[in-house]
Amino acid sequence: MAPLLRVRPEDAKDYMRLFVNRRAYTLQSSRPNPESGRHHYFRPRAKGTGKDLSLTLDTVRRHLRGEITIGLYAINPATQRSKWVAIDADYDGAMEDLLKLQYHLGQDEVEAALEMSKRGGHLWIFMAAPALARECRIYIYNLALKLGMRIKGTGLAEGIEVFPKHDELRAGEFGNAVRGPLGIHRGAARRYWFYGADYELTKQISFLKRLRKLSEGQLRRLIAGKTMPPEFERRRSEPAEFRHVPFSGREFRVLEHVGKTRTVGRNYVTQCPSCAEAGQDRSGDNLAISIEDPRKYICWAGCTKEMIRRAVGCPIPVRQSA
Ligand SMILES: [Zn+2]
Repeated sequence: MAPLLRVRPEDAKDYMRLFVNRRAYTLQSSRPNPESGRHHYFRPRAKGTGKDLSLTLDTVRRHLRGEITIGLYAINPATQRSKWVAIDADYDGAMEDLLKLQYHLGQDEVEAALEMSKRGGHLWIFMAAPALARECRIYIYNLALKLGMRIKGTGLAEGIEVFPKHDELRAGEFGNAVRGPLGIHRGAARRYWFYGADYELTKQISFLKRLRKLSEGQLRRLIAGKTMPPEFERRRSEPAEFRHVPFSGREFRVLEHVGKTRTVGRNYVTQCPSCAEAGQDRSGDNLAISIEDPRKYICWAGCTKEMIRRAVGCPIPVRQSA
């Protein structure tokens, strides 16, 4: 494992100013899942109360130190805005695409910082003040399409992924999280740095602070006359009325609540709704549902039935005592 670092309080504060959009966060598990071999992310909850833990300065300090590894959400649901855009690419030729994007962003006078990752990298753009997620997405998608870049989520298995992945979040939604930079990746057991500064915490953070930030005015000039490409005009998954129909007492069938499934051996396999809520299971294979008895299902990443039921809007009813 990469060595733990001493973290200056100022660095943790600056990191929070740069990266933290909301207090909800995810945590990368320190041990790999025995089934998948991957280090999954989950939303940490307080022992006892089960309430979501809130991101604090100390959480950030421990992440930078290397004790824990956090994932950061892209959208603050109160404003539908983000302090940053992160472009993730992890396929063969990913770095080439990210460098090309970085160059063309530069032509628009948008500075972007390139962070290494396990396969490929993440390209980060920081806002002078939080910008509407939708406007950030309009800009990046139009630019990437102009450059002929492959983009994930349009039926392509490989391509760049843009965070924020949503225009807006509804109450209670989290959207997708990205691994917080500069910590230790649990799977790779190493730290990934930004190109452009010495591989040292304080120097990396000063580098990010010095980057030119994108203002709302500049962003609006860049997207003037542009619209969201139709393939990225995300439809709401289900109408709100449907999601919140209280559990009627009819037997719960998880198959009625998940997306497309594949058949693997004796199971249907699909994306786990609870993992998806935490911005995880991008490969869409964490949830296995027995073909023989579709009442039986399991998430290989370790989500409980309670978490899955809550994620699909059909929480397990609390038993009445009388
Ligand atoms: Zn799961």
